[in-house]
Amino acid sequence: MKYPLLQNTELAGRKVFLRLDLNVPLHDGRIADDSRIKAALPTIRYILDKGASLVIASHLGRPGGKRNADYSLASIAYRLETLLGRKVLFAPDCIGARTETMVASLKPGDVLLLENLRFHPEEKEGDPDFSRKLAYCIDIYVNDAFGTCHRKHASLKGLPEFLGGGYIGLLVQKELHIFDEMLSSPARPFTLLLGGAKASDKIPVIENLLPRLDHILIGGGMAFTFMKTLGMNVGRSLLELDRLGAAEKVLKEADKFGVDIFLPLDIVIAPSPGSPEQARTVSADSIPANEAGLDIGPRTVEQFGRVIEKSCTVVWNGPLGVFEIPPFDRGTRRIASILANVTKTGTISVVGGGDSVRAVVEAGHFNDISFVSTGGGASLILLEGNELFALEALGGERS
Ligand code: AMP
Repeated sequence: MKYPLLQNTELAGRKVFLRLDLNVPLHDGRIADDSRIKAALPTIRYILDKGASLVIASHLGRPGGKRNADYSLASIAYRLETLLGRKVLFAPDCIGARTETMVASLKPGDVLLLENLRFHPEEKEGDPDFSRKLAYCIDIYVNDAFGTCHRKHASLKGLPEFLGGGYIGLLVQKELHIFDEMLSSPARPFTLLLGGAKASDKIPVIENLLPRLDHILIGGGMAFTFMKTLGMNVGRSLLELDRLGAAEKVLKEADKFGVDIFLPLDIVIAPSPGSPEQARTVSADSIPANEAGLDIGPRTVEQFGRVIEKSCTVVWNGPLGVFEIPPFDRGTRRIASILANVTKTGTISVVGGGDSVRAVVEAGHFNDISFVSTGGGASLILLEGNELFALEALGGERS
């Protein structure tokens, strides 16, 4: 792996700044799913076992650069303490005199969690002075925040640059390894399953993967841009008119590479997502002008299912309908079940993207998928064949 590994540095007696992605979903102020905290435990334990003291930082939600108790990491400190089985100190701000005193007095084995980085607008602005303040008393920087590695924020880019480099933690190593293996030598047939709102987000992924792919299944809102290029009426469905040319080019390129692209055969429509009681299924070429396509229909699920069943690798990013609102969740849930079933018989399944992961979790299949990525945007960047900004800031390989 080309980034410096945590295992290649001396940790005993050092103060380590560990950037994590503890941006857990909250429901009525409570942690709805703590899998991101659990995913960070191996790196936390590793660093503590080596005799370092630990300053942990993360963002949570979108507080808009202002202090907001709804997005405090205090509840995460409690959950982390329980999961870790040791005391976790909590600093009520991520910078400032009081925090500096707490950081300075840490002893080997101590853990300090800082308050939400995004209570300061300077974090998202990538402000160098904010990076410098975060670096107070820190010897070593470790990035294990895979889900935010595509950001240039102060704690992700400026801070390791200020400290002269840094290391990747065990979770980032695992994520990079899985994507690297899968993309360099995928077990064929290799199928890309895409959904979600925007074709523009996913077209670069298709372009990068085309030479290695066998099949592409396209559902969700992004499918309508492709359907429109084939002359179909899509009514009030999501459409990116400025991407029609790019979608058409992708269809032609796929043909050149001998990759089969499957678009929906039938669509669940309604006047809007807010009128689920009026949902009905029509053939994909019969969407009325005043209705919107909000999910893939049962014939599409069957067809996508057949392709998934004959695949050896399936990568999925993006829900196949407006899965937040039943009954438009059915297509996504059924596809999640099919993917879980084929994984049991040896297919390698990789799911990335906050919404597709949520769909897998809600359908009860989290443990049935070969690998569930902790990063939606970050995993898309890897699928596009691009580098993650935050990791570039760590410097080259060091031993
Ligand atoms: P993305 O972040 O691009 O993966 O998009 C996820 C969003 O796409 C979810 O909020 C879904 O509700 C939305 N979505 C999926 N299918 C459709 C559709 N047919 N029409 C409108 N929105 C959709």
